[in-house]
Amino acid sequence: NADAALYYAKAQGRNNFQTYSHKMNSDSFTLLALRSSMHTAIENHEFVIHFQPKVNAETSEITGVEALIRWQHPELGLISPSQFIPLAEDNGLIVTIGEWLLRNVCKQSQAWQDAGLKPVTVGVNLSARQFLQPNLVMTIANILAETGLAPQWLELEITESLAMNDLDYTSSVLEKLYEMGVQIAIDDFGTGHSSLSALKKFPIHTLKIDRSFIQEIASNPHDKAIVGAIVSLAKGLNLNVVVEGVETIDQLNCLRSLECDQVQGFFFSPPMPVELITEMLALDTIPTEFNPIDKLSTQ
Ligand code: C2E
Ligand code: MG
Ligand code: MG
Ligand code: MG
Repeated sequence: NADAALYYAKAQGRNNFQTYSHKMNSDSFTLLALRSSMHTAIENHEFVIHFQPKVNAETSEITGVEALIRWQHPELGLISPSQFIPLAEDNGLIVTIGEWLLRNVCKQSQAWQDAGLKPVTVGVNLSARQFLQPNLVMTIANILAETGLAPQWLELEITESLAMNDLDYTSSVLEKLYEMGVQIAIDDFGTGHSSLSALKKFPIHTLKIDRSFIQEIASNPHDKAIVGAIVSLAKGLNLNVVVEGVETIDQLNCLRSLECDQVQGFFFSPPMPVELITEMLALDTIPTEFNPIDKLSTQ
Protein backbone atom coordinates (compact mmCIF):
# COMPACT_ATOMS: atom_id res chain seq x y z
CA ASN A 1 0.00 0.00 0.00
CA ALA A 2 1.57 3.19 -1.27
CA ASP A 3 0.52 5.50 1.56
CA ALA A 4 1.81 3.09 4.14
CA ALA A 5 5.11 2.74 2.33
CA LEU A 6 5.45 6.51 2.20
CA TYR A 7 4.67 6.87 5.83
CA TYR A 8 7.12 4.15 6.66
CA ALA A 9 9.87 5.77 4.64
CA LYS A 10 9.25 9.13 6.21
CA ALA A 11 8.94 7.80 9.75
CA GLN A 12 12.12 5.76 9.29
CA GLY A 13 14.31 8.55 8.18
CA ARG A 14 13.05 12.03 8.79
CA ASN A 15 16.55 13.34 8.43
CA ASN A 16 17.07 11.58 5.13
CA PHE A 17 13.83 13.03 3.93
CA GLN A 18 14.88 16.53 4.93
CA THR A 19 18.25 16.14 3.25
CA TYR A 20 16.47 14.94 0.15
CA SER A 21 14.19 17.98 -0.01
CA HIS A 22 17.09 20.26 0.77
CA LYS A 23 18.99 18.79 -2.16
CA MET A 24 15.96 19.28 -4.35
CA ASN A 25 15.76 22.90 -3.37
CA SER A 26 18.96 23.68 -5.15
CA ASP A 27 18.00 21.70 -8.22
CA SER A 28 16.38 24.01 -10.72
CA PHE A 29 15.46 21.11 -13.00
CA THR A 30 13.43 19.59 -10.22
CA LEU A 31 11.70 22.89 -9.57
CA LEU A 32 10.89 23.14 -13.25
CA ALA A 33 9.53 19.60 -13.28
CA LEU A 34 7.40 20.32 -10.22
CA ARG A 35 6.03 23.51 -11.71
CA SER A 36 5.08 21.93 -15.01
CA SER A 37 3.52 18.78 -13.56
CA MET A 38 1.51 20.55 -10.86
CA HIS A 39 -1.29 21.44 -13.25
CA THR A 40 -2.33 17.82 -13.71
CA ALA A 41 -1.55 16.60 -10.20
CA ILE A 42 -5.09 16.90 -8.85
CA GLU A 43 -6.79 15.08 -11.72
CA ASN A 44 -4.09 12.39 -11.53
CA HIS A 45 -4.79 11.93 -7.79
CA GLU A 46 -1.20 12.67 -6.85
CA PHE A 47 -1.95 14.71 -3.74
CA VAL A 48 -2.43 12.83 -0.51
CA ILE A 49 -3.63 14.15 2.82
CA HIS A 50 -1.97 12.95 5.99
CA PHE A 51 -3.25 13.70 9.47
CA GLN A 52 -1.31 14.36 12.65
CA PRO A 53 -3.06 14.09 16.03
CA LYS A 54 -3.12 16.87 18.61
CA VAL A 55 -3.38 15.54 22.12
CA ASN A 56 -4.21 16.71 25.61
CA ALA A 57 -0.79 17.12 27.27
CA GLU A 58 -1.93 15.50 30.53
CA THR A 59 -4.13 12.65 29.35
CA SER A 60 -2.85 11.92 25.80
CA GLU A 61 -6.44 12.05 24.68
CA ILE A 62 -6.76 13.07 21.02
CA THR A 63 -8.34 16.51 20.80
CA GLY A 64 -7.91 17.14 17.11
CA VAL A 65 -5.99 16.35 13.96
CA GLU A 66 -4.16 18.57 11.49
CA ALA A 67 -4.38 17.87 7.77
CA LEU A 68 -1.00 18.07 6.03
CA ILE A 69 -0.74 17.70 2.29
CA ARG A 70 1.90 15.67 0.42
CA TRP A 71 2.52 15.24 -3.26
CA GLN A 72 3.19 11.71 -4.45
CA HIS A 73 4.98 12.62 -7.65
CA PRO A 74 5.18 9.78 -10.21
CA GLU A 75 8.87 10.39 -10.97
CA LEU A 76 10.20 12.46 -8.09
CA GLY A 77 8.67 10.59 -5.19
CA LEU A 78 7.13 12.12 -2.11
CA ILE A 79 7.35 15.91 -2.16
CA SER A 80 6.90 17.86 1.06
CA PRO A 81 4.53 20.82 1.25
CA SER A 82 7.36 23.21 2.06
CA GLN A 83 8.70 22.32 -1.39
CA PHE A 84 5.60 22.77 -3.49
CA ILE A 85 3.27 25.09 -1.56
CA PRO A 86 5.46 28.13 -2.36
CA LEU A 87 5.38 27.14 -6.06
CA ALA A 88 1.62 26.71 -5.90
CA GLU A 89 1.36 30.16 -4.31
CA ASP A 90 3.35 31.61 -7.22
CA ASN A 91 1.32 30.05 -10.00
CA GLY A 92 -2.01 30.40 -8.20
CA LEU A 93 -2.79 26.68 -8.13
CA ILE A 94 -2.84 26.87 -4.34
CA VAL A 95 -6.42 28.10 -4.64
CA THR A 96 -7.57 24.97 -6.47
CA ILE A 97 -5.41 22.67 -4.36
CA GLY A 98 -6.59 24.34 -1.16
CA GLU A 99 -10.23 24.00 -2.09
CA TRP A 100 -9.75 20.34 -3.03
CA LEU A 101 -8.09 19.76 0.33
CA LEU A 102 -10.75 21.58 2.35
CA ARG A 103 -13.53 19.61 0.67
CA ASN A 104 -11.80 16.26 1.23
CA VAL A 105 -10.86 17.03 4.80
CA CYS A 106 -14.42 18.10 5.70
CA LYS A 107 -15.78 14.99 3.97
CA GLN A 108 -13.35 12.79 5.90
CA SER A 109 -14.14 14.46 9.19
CA GLN A 110 -17.86 13.97 8.68
CA ALA A 111 -17.20 10.34 7.70
CA TRP A 112 -15.40 9.78 11.02
CA GLN A 113 -18.36 11.23 12.88
CA ASP A 114 -20.80 9.12 10.84
CA ALA A 115 -18.74 6.06 11.77
CA GLY A 116 -19.34 6.90 15.43
CA LEU A 117 -15.88 8.16 16.33
CA LYS A 118 -15.68 10.91 18.92
CA PRO A 119 -15.75 14.23 17.06
CA VAL A 120 -12.44 16.12 17.02
CA THR A 121 -11.47 19.37 15.35
CA VAL A 122 -9.67 19.07 12.07
CA GLY A 123 -7.10 21.72 11.24
CA VAL A 124 -6.46 22.99 7.73
CA ASN A 125 -3.59 25.33 6.85
CA LEU A 126 -4.50 28.32 4.71
CA SER A 127 -1.87 30.03 2.61
CA ALA A 128 -1.77 33.78 2.08
CA ARG A 129 -3.09 33.68 -1.46
CA GLN A 130 -5.98 31.48 -0.39
CA PHE A 131 -6.82 33.75 2.51
CA LEU A 132 -6.92 36.75 0.18
CA GLN A 133 -9.42 35.14 -2.23
CA PRO A 134 -12.54 37.31 -2.13
CA ASN A 135 -14.80 34.24 -2.14
CA LEU A 136 -12.96 32.33 0.62
CA VAL A 137 -15.77 32.66 3.18
CA MET A 138 -18.40 31.61 0.65
CA THR A 139 -16.30 28.65 -0.50
CA ILE A 140 -15.92 27.43 3.07
CA ALA A 141 -19.62 27.89 3.80
CA ASN A 142 -20.48 25.89 0.68
CA ILE A 143 -18.07 23.08 1.53
CA LEU A 144 -19.50 22.81 5.06
CA ALA A 145 -23.04 22.71 3.70
CA GLU A 146 -22.12 20.17 1.04
CA THR A 147 -20.29 17.81 3.40
CA GLY A 148 -22.61 18.28 6.36
CA LEU A 149 -19.74 19.03 8.74
CA ALA A 150 -20.70 21.32 11.62
CA PRO A 151 -18.46 24.43 11.46
CA GLN A 152 -17.15 24.01 15.01
CA TRP A 153 -15.10 20.97 13.87
CA LEU A 154 -13.19 22.86 11.21
CA GLU A 155 -10.17 24.79 12.43
CA LEU A 156 -8.41 27.12 10.01
CA GLU A 157 -4.72 27.72 10.65
CA ILE A 158 -3.24 30.97 9.43
CA THR A 159 0.25 32.22 10.14
CA GLU A 160 1.04 35.28 12.16
CA SER A 161 2.81 36.94 9.21
CA LEU A 162 -0.26 36.47 7.06
CA ALA A 163 -2.60 37.74 9.77
CA MET A 164 -0.57 40.86 10.54
CA ASN A 165 -0.10 41.81 6.91
CA ASP A 166 -3.31 43.79 6.53
CA LEU A 167 -4.97 44.06 9.92
CA ASP A 168 -8.30 45.44 8.73
CA TYR A 169 -8.73 42.89 5.99
CA THR A 170 -7.67 40.03 8.27
CA SER A 171 -10.15 41.15 10.95
CA SER A 172 -13.02 41.40 8.49
CA VAL A 173 -12.44 37.89 7.12
CA LEU A 174 -11.86 36.36 10.54
CA GLU A 175 -15.02 37.97 11.88
CA LYS A 176 -17.10 36.38 9.14
CA LEU A 177 -15.53 32.97 9.75
CA TYR A 178 -15.97 33.35 13.50
CA GLU A 179 -19.64 34.19 13.07
CA MET A 180 -20.01 31.14 10.89
CA GLY A 181 -18.73 29.10 13.84
CA VAL A 182 -15.41 27.99 12.38
CA GLN A 183 -12.37 27.74 14.70
CA ILE A 184 -9.38 29.99 14.02
CA ALA A 185 -5.79 29.22 15.02
CA ILE A 186 -2.66 31.30 14.62
CA ASP A 187 0.07 28.94 13.39
CA ASP A 188 3.84 29.17 13.94
CA PHE A 189 3.16 31.68 16.69
CA GLY A 190 6.24 33.59 17.78
CA THR A 191 8.06 33.54 14.43
CA GLY A 192 6.32 36.40 12.61
CA HIS A 193 5.67 40.03 13.38
CA SER A 194 3.31 39.92 16.31
CA SER A 195 1.14 42.73 17.29
CA LEU A 196 -0.28 41.83 20.65
CA SER A 197 -3.00 44.46 20.35
CA ALA A 198 -4.07 42.99 17.01
CA LEU A 199 -4.15 39.61 18.66
CA LYS A 200 -6.55 41.00 21.21
CA LYS A 201 -8.84 42.32 18.49
CA PHE A 202 -8.84 39.30 16.18
CA PRO A 203 -11.55 36.78 16.84
CA ILE A 204 -9.33 33.71 17.29
CA HIS A 205 -9.52 30.59 19.40
CA THR A 206 -6.04 29.10 19.46
CA LEU A 207 -2.33 29.93 19.39
CA LYS A 208 -0.01 27.26 18.03
CA ILE A 209 3.49 27.90 19.39
CA ASP A 210 6.17 27.33 16.79
CA ARG A 211 8.38 24.32 17.26
CA SER A 212 11.56 26.40 17.20
CA PHE A 213 10.80 27.36 20.82
CA ILE A 214 10.41 23.72 21.81
CA GLN A 215 13.52 22.15 20.31
CA GLU A 216 15.76 23.05 23.24
CA ILE A 217 13.13 23.79 25.85
CA ALA A 218 14.31 21.07 28.22
CA SER A 219 17.82 22.56 28.44
CA ASN A 220 17.38 26.24 27.55
CA PRO A 221 15.81 28.38 30.30
CA HIS A 222 15.22 31.25 27.86
CA ASP A 223 13.10 29.11 25.57
CA LYS A 224 11.24 27.80 28.58
CA ALA A 225 10.59 31.36 29.76
CA ILE A 226 9.31 32.39 26.33
CA VAL A 227 6.94 29.45 26.08
CA GLY A 228 5.78 30.02 29.66
CA ALA A 229 5.04 33.65 28.83
CA ILE A 230 3.10 32.75 25.68
CA VAL A 231 1.07 30.22 27.64
CA SER A 232 0.14 32.86 30.25
CA LEU A 233 -0.62 35.39 27.54
CA ALA A 234 -2.91 32.92 25.79
CA LYS A 235 -4.67 31.98 29.02
CA GLY A 236 -5.12 35.65 29.88
CA LEU A 237 -6.74 36.19 26.51
CA ASN A 238 -8.84 33.07 26.95
CA LEU A 239 -7.20 31.27 24.04
CA ASN A 240 -6.22 27.62 23.69
CA VAL A 241 -2.54 26.85 23.29
CA VAL A 242 -1.12 24.07 21.19
CA VAL A 243 2.59 23.39 21.17
CA GLU A 244 3.92 21.89 17.95
CA GLY A 245 7.04 19.83 17.41
CA VAL A 246 7.11 17.85 20.65
CA GLU A 247 9.57 15.02 20.07
CA THR A 248 10.80 13.87 23.48
CA ILE A 249 9.48 13.00 26.93
CA ASP A 250 11.70 15.71 28.44
CA GLN A 251 10.08 18.34 26.25
CA LEU A 252 6.65 16.99 27.14
CA ASN A 253 7.37 17.06 30.88
CA CYS A 254 8.67 20.59 30.63
CA LEU A 255 5.51 21.66 28.76
CA ARG A 256 3.36 19.93 31.36
CA SER A 257 5.10 21.94 34.08
CA LEU A 258 4.19 25.10 32.14
CA GLU A 259 0.57 23.93 32.05
CA CYS A 260 0.34 23.69 28.30
CA ASP A 261 -2.99 22.19 27.32
CA GLN A 262 -2.35 20.53 24.01
CA VAL A 263 0.66 19.20 22.16
CA GLN A 264 1.42 17.87 18.72
CA GLY A 265 4.58 16.19 17.51
CA PHE A 266 6.54 13.09 16.63
CA PHE A 267 6.65 12.03 20.30
CA PHE A 268 3.00 11.05 19.92
CA SER A 269 2.74 10.55 16.22
CA PRO A 270 3.96 11.82 12.85
CA PRO A 271 1.37 12.80 10.25
CA MET A 272 -0.22 9.57 9.04
CA PRO A 273 -2.27 8.23 6.14
CA VAL A 274 -5.99 8.13 6.68
CA GLU A 275 -6.24 4.40 7.55
CA LEU A 276 -3.78 4.76 10.40
CA ILE A 277 -5.18 7.97 11.85
CA THR A 278 -8.61 6.34 11.74
CA GLU A 279 -7.27 3.50 13.90
CA MET A 280 -5.80 6.03 16.29
CA LEU A 281 -9.04 7.97 16.52
CA ALA A 282 -10.81 4.75 17.39
CA LEU A 283 -8.37 4.32 20.28
CA ASP A 284 -9.23 7.81 21.51
CA THR A 285 -6.02 8.21 23.48
CA ILE A 286 -2.58 7.41 22.15
CA PRO A 287 -1.13 4.64 24.29
CA THR A 288 2.66 4.61 24.48
CA GLU A 289 2.66 1.05 23.18
CA PHE A 290 0.87 2.15 20.01
CA ASN A 291 3.47 1.94 17.31
CA PRO A 292 2.17 2.49 13.80
CA ILE A 293 5.42 1.23 12.32
CA ASP A 294 4.85 -2.21 13.88
CA LYS A 295 1.43 -2.30 12.30
CA LEU A 296 2.82 -1.38 8.91
CA SER A 297 5.43 -4.10 8.93
CA THR A 298 2.69 -6.73 9.27
CA GLN A 299 0.69 -5.49 6.26
P1 C2E B 1 2.76 23.62 9.86
O1 C2E B 1 1.34 23.92 9.54
O2 C2E B 1 3.38 24.40 10.94
O3 C2E B 1 2.79 22.07 10.12
C1 C2E B 1 3.64 21.45 11.04
C2 C2E B 1 4.82 20.80 10.34
O4 C2E B 1 5.69 20.28 11.32
C3 C2E B 1 4.45 19.62 9.45
O5 C2E B 1 5.39 19.57 8.39
C4 C2E B 1 4.66 18.44 10.39
O6 C2E B 1 4.90 17.21 9.72
C5 C2E B 1 5.88 18.90 11.12
N1 C2E B 1 6.00 18.27 12.43
C6 C2E B 1 5.02 17.83 13.24
N2 C2E B 1 5.51 17.35 14.39
C7 C2E B 1 6.85 17.51 14.32
C8 C2E B 1 7.94 17.20 15.22
O7 C2E B 1 7.75 16.69 16.32
N3 C2E B 1 9.19 17.52 14.79
C9 C2E B 1 9.43 18.09 13.58
N4 C2E B 1 10.70 18.35 13.25
N5 C2E B 1 8.43 18.39 12.70
C10 C2E B 1 7.16 18.11 13.09
P2 C2E B 1 4.93 19.38 6.89
O8 C2E B 1 3.79 18.41 6.82
O9 C2E B 1 6.14 19.11 6.09
O10 C2E B 1 4.34 20.80 6.53
C11 C2E B 1 5.17 21.93 6.50
C12 C2E B 1 4.34 23.17 6.32
O11 C2E B 1 3.73 23.19 5.03
C13 C2E B 1 3.19 23.31 7.30
O12 C2E B 1 3.67 23.83 8.53
C14 C2E B 1 2.29 24.27 6.57
O13 C2E B 1 2.74 25.59 6.73
C15 C2E B 1 2.50 23.86 5.13
N6 C2E B 1 1.40 22.98 4.72
C16 C2E B 1 1.22 21.67 4.93
N7 C2E B 1 0.05 21.24 4.40
C17 C2E B 1 -0.53 22.34 3.85
C18 C2E B 1 -1.76 22.57 3.15
O14 C2E B 1 -2.59 21.67 2.96
N8 C2E B 1 -2.02 23.86 2.73
C19 C2E B 1 -1.12 24.87 2.97
N9 C2E B 1 -1.44 26.10 2.53
N10 C2E B 1 0.02 24.68 3.62
C20 C2E B 1 0.32 23.44 4.06
MG1 MG C 1 -0.29 24.17 10.66
MG1 MG D 1 3.06 25.38 12.56
MG1 MG E 1 5.54 25.50 10.57
